[in-house]
Amino acid sequence: MNQVVHIPTVPADAGEKVNLLDFDRQGLRDFFTQIGEKPYRAEQVMKWIYHHLESDFGKMTDVGKALRAKLEATCYVGPPKTLFDKGAADGTHKWLLGMDGGNAIEAVYIPEPTRGTLCVSSQVGCGLNCQFCSTATQGFNRNLSTAEVIGQMWVAAKYLGNITHQNRRITNVVMMGMGEPLLNFDNVVKAMSLMRDDLGFGLASKRVTLSTAGLVPMIDKLSEAIDVSLAVSLHAANDELRTELVPLNKRYPIAELTEACQRWIARKPRTSITFEYTLMKGVNDQPEHARQLIRFMRKLPTCKVNLIPFNPFPGTRFERSDADTIRAFQTQLLNAGILTMLRRTRGDDIDAACGQLKGQVLDRTRRQAEFLKRLDQGAVHAG
Ligand code: SAH
Repeated sequence: MNQVVHIPTVPADAGEKVNLLDFDRQGLRDFFTQIGEKPYRAEQVMKWIYHHLESDFGKMTDVGKALRAKLEATCYVGPPKTLFDKGAADGTHKWLLGMDGGNAIEAVYIPEPTRGTLCVSSQVGCGLNCQFCSTATQGFNRNLSTAEVIGQMWVAAKYLGNITHQNRRITNVVMMGMGEPLLNFDNVVKAMSLMRDDLGFGLASKRVTLSTAGLVPMIDKLSEAIDVSLAVSLHAANDELRTELVPLNKRYPIAELTEACQRWIARKPRTSITFEYTLMKGVNDQPEHARQLIRFMRKLPTCKVNLIPFNPFPGTRFERSDADTIRAFQTQLLNAGILTMLRRTRGDDIDAACGQLKGQVLDRTRRQAEFLKRLDQGAVHAG
């Protein structure tokens, strides 16, 4: 299947043209109204874009000739350009996607017997500086546009021959690639609404998961904006250690995070939150850490834990916990009645495992420093 699929990208004559991947359904309807067309036409075009993965207006056969010509003259369907893609021995597939100015991000597809998960990036780099994540070592450049977020799924879907509502190769999406999705709120919500929309990729709410390092006010905002699943990167259940691993914890400590999660559950009573916990040798993998995690989980009884064996990357000071330690940690949680999964490491032979995504980030260190300063001053908040 390699390299035979022609995947279009931003055309050379894009210039002032509008990328239709930047709109969710309402946005596309509004745009059609603006160009003097009936809004339902937008929905026809949307089906072509997301169900048939068609980017050539000329092939949208049930769209009138005049409208097709108008669209060709003013718009395009432009997912990011694939610079490189590679498959791993276990079926995992990784795309390196080119952004402007020499930046690149990664998306990863992870097939399993009963589902296929696409891991999507939200930013070029990341400003949160979590100590054990390779994206952090690259610094931060900018937020991705809606087109660049949903475009990752479009590229993967096209490559995999995904057919919405028929032959779904991508059954789940996790916003767990590069970046902190809640710091790119509007674009990420729009892209997730296209993942969920029946005229988009049509995935159920439990199959679209946003993962956050714990931006408390944005968790509340998300629960009002869209119906998706939530994962929270916890990694330690005591403040001292968590602040060391996830510096954002200084601004939003565990007690506040717990309350935000309780509010999320109160608003969505039948849902659960997954807490991600990356196991690092001698750092957060001891019986006392499991006890702290159990106490934390008691406050969120419907939630579950996802243990991730640490994935090493060049230059890191952390190591993966031993298999026995991981098993003992999981057993301790299970014995306390906590639903605890162990994430199998996938795609690590192509550096596509959690925390190994690198892309290429032209670091705007000053921006990152400014961001962290504002964080310390408490100026990063919803809105
Ligand atoms: N910023 C968001 C999205 C990135 S998610 C968040 O923090 O949730 C990627 C997941 O992989 C997070 O749970 C992250 O903490 C975890 N991760 C990062 N580096 C890792 C590594 N080296 N090994 C294993 N998991 C890692």
